[in-house]
Amino acid sequence: SVTTKPPPSPSPLRNAKFFQANMRILVTGGAGFIGSHLVDRLMENEKNEVIVVDNYFTGSKDNLKKWIGHPRFELIRHDVTETLLVEVDQIYHLACPASPIFYKYNPVKTIKTNVIGTLNMLGLAKRVGARILLTSTSEVYGDPLMHPQDETYWGNVNPIGVRSCYDEGKRVAETLMYDYHRQHGIEIRIARIFNTYGPRMNIDDGRVVSNFIAQAVRGEPLTVQAPGTQTRSFCYVSDMVDGLIRLMEGDNTGPINIGNPGEFTMLELAETVKELINPDVEIISVENTPDDPRQRKPDITKAKELLGWEPKIKLRDGLPLMEDDFRTRLGVTRKN
Ligand code: NAD
Ligand code: UDP
Ligand code: UDP
Repeated sequence: SVTTKPPPSPSPLRNAKFFQANMRILVTGGAGFIGSHLVDRLMENEKNEVIVVDNYFTGSKDNLKKWIGHPRFELIRHDVTETLLVEVDQIYHLACPASPIFYKYNPVKTIKTNVIGTLNMLGLAKRVGARILLTSTSEVYGDPLMHPQDETYWGNVNPIGVRSCYDEGKRVAETLMYDYHRQHGIEIRIARIFNTYGPRMNIDDGRVVSNFIAQAVRGEPLTVQAPGTQTRSFCYVSDMVDGLIRLMEGDNTGPINIGNPGEFTMLELAETVKELINPDVEIISVENTPDDPRQRKPDITKAKELLGWEPKIKLRDGLPLMEDDFRTRLGVTRKN
């Protein structure tokens, strides 16, 4: 005979959790640039407990020093390419080097981080029933043939180039997210992040804003990679974190572009940095790297409509905020 099980009675533990509405949140890559700013914002909410998992490849404990020892915070040295067992309600999955010099340094490791790392975090989300957000990238659009880029564009990506470990890796990560969603009903969120800048960027990580600011502070020439007419759109990190949290908390899976639509050539960026930070430095032209996208600018219609989000900080206002942090870390005071 068929016996029907009575519905499970709510466990007292779960009930207590429900009333407090506490959230346990995992941030992979939380010791990095964007991750540590995200942790700062999440920790401001007293109902959040935050667990950071990081292998310190490009991140540092220093970025999280104000939280170490805090009762609602935990930091675990762990590589996401290995199985992880924790019990959480949400996962912000950021772990992956973002700067070209670091992701090209060990490309096989980069693709493992993107593919196996994302698979593991999805397996974890499936086991514990957590919602998971992936920080994908505008690089999924490759060297775009559509301008500006909206989320329907499938991209123009070289599958065998030196950037492929990163951009094809993120494309597979997005595919995995959607397959776990369709096949296993996992709650997913995908952010396509465009170039982001702000305090705590690695000083020597080779990205253009950190390079130019470090060069201007040190009084060295600003190195514009040829031709200098290539464009990017730069989002200040506090705006980025705000967009990521809205995406996580909202009802849309994405992918959704999160970025600042203000578009600048690299020559214009160099001129702005020179004007704002050190009018005495020279601007020089140097050789570029292969497969450098010629233009990039997000269409953020979807983020505006679905998340009520748009960036607030203009480039000219964000650059000086980053300068202060770079001067402190480089030990170079402003001359007046
Ligand atoms: P970051 O390099 O500062 O941070 C990445 C963090 O991940 C670091 O702390 C690093 O140690 C950690 N990490 C790397 N591999 C790991 C692994 N295998 N296991 C555990 N931890 C690992 O970079 P970021 O700028 O903060 O970028 C964060 C995320 O946002 C990345 O997923 C990146 O692809 C994405 N993104 C960033 C930008 C940008 O402009 N910064 C643009 C597009 C997408
Ligand atoms: N996984 C993990 N933590 C968990 C559950 C799974 O790291 O709490 C990893 C697990 O090691 C596996 C991956 O996630 O390699 C995918 O898990 P899933 O259960 O989807 O697939 P399966 O284990 O059946 O291959
Ligand atoms: N770039 C530059 N000078 C530098 C570093 C980078 O002109 O010192 C250029 C680079 O050629 C590219 C743009 O800045 O066109 C953005 O490069 P970055 O590595 O910051 O990010 P991504 O290429 O991933 O957008």
